[in-house]
Amino acid sequence: AAAPPVVHYYMNNLTTSRTPIENRETVLVLTPMARFYQEYWDNLLKVNYPHDLIALGYIIPKTKEGNLAYAALQVQVLKTQSGPKAKRFASVTILRQDTETPLQSQSEQERHKLENQKPRRSAMAKARNSLLFTTMGPTTSWVLWIDADVIEFPPTLIQDLALYDVPIIAPNCFQRFYNADTKANDIREYDFNNWIDSPTARDMAAKMAKDDILVEGYGEMPTYRSLMTKMYDPSADPGTKVKLDGVGGATLLVKAEVHRDGAMFPAFPFYHLIETEGFAKMASRLNWESYGLPNYLVFHYNE
Ligand code: GDP
Ligand code: MN
Repeated sequence: AAAPPVVHYYMNNLTTSRTPIENRETVLVLTPMARFYQEYWDNLLKVNYPHDLIALGYIIPKTKEGNLAYAALQVQVLKTQSGPKAKRFASVTILRQDTETPLQSQSEQERHKLENQKPRRSAMAKARNSLLFTTMGPTTSWVLWIDADVIEFPPTLIQDLALYDVPIIAPNCFQRFYNADTKANDIREYDFNNWIDSPTARDMAAKMAKDDILVEGYGEMPTYRSLMTKMYDPSADPGTKVKLDGVGGATLLVKAEVHRDGAMFPAFPFYHLIETEGFAKMASRLNWESYGLPNYLVFHYNE
C-alpha cells in the first residue's frame, strides 16, 4: 500500500508510565561507543523488556579503535537481528562520528586527568547530542543512556527504573576490582557525576570566569557536593531514591519528553557545567527533576 501523504502523531497519547510494558511504550537505548565489550552486549540481549519495543542507537568515533568496535558490534547486531524473532530489536542505528578533532582514545588514567576534562567532555557532549537528535522519533517514550563499558546490569533495568515514574533517573555506577589489602574481590565507586549540589560548589561557580567549568571527583577542586557513590548502603532499602542536581551518563533513564523539550548535553559551559551534569541543570531549568538510586548498582568495566 502507498504511504499516506501525511502521518499524524498524537503526542498527548504517547505515555511514559510506571507500567511501560503494559502500555507498549518504546525505549530508545543510546550508547556512545569507543570500545566494544561483549558483556555489555550479552546483558543487553538479556534485557527482558520486549525487544520489539526497543530501538538501539550507537555513535562510534572514526578512529582505529572505533573501527574495531564498529566491526565487533556489527557482527553481534547481524547475529541478533537474523536470530530468533523474540530477541530481535525493533531497529539498530549506527552513526560514525567524523568530528574535526576526533577524541583520541585514552586510558582510564589519561582521560580522568583534570586538564583533559573540558575538551573530552565537550566532545562527548557533541557525540551524545548527535546520537540523540538523529535517532529520537515521534513514538519514542523513553531514552535509556547506557555506556558501552557498563558491563553488568540486571535484565529488568528498564522496568526497575521506569517504576519510579520520574523524568530522569540514574542507578549507582560502581566497579569491581581485586582488593589487594583484603585479598578478595571487592567493589568501589566509579561514576562521580551523580551528585547533590553544595554551597561550596555554588560559591566556586559564582566566582569563576565565564567559560570555566566545575568537574567532580578531583582533590585539587574540592566541591563538597554529596556524591551518590558515597550514599551506597547495602544494608539499607534497595529502593531508596534521592533527588540529584548533577547526573552521569553511564546509565540514565530519561523520559523522552525531557529531551523533546530541548534538554540536551551542553558542549559549552552552562552554569559552569558541561555534558551530562549540564544536562541535569538544563532539565532542571525546564522544570524536570533528576533522581538517583544509591543502592541500585550497575558495574563499569575495570581497565
Ligand atoms: P568515563 O568512563 O566517564 O571515563 O568515560 P568513557 O571514556 O568510558 O566514555 C563514555 C562512553 O562514551 C563510553 O561508552 C565510551 O565507549 C564512549 N566514548 C568515549 N570516547 C568516545 C568518542 O570519542 N566518541 C564516541 N562516539 N564515544 C566515545
Ligand atoms: Mn566509561
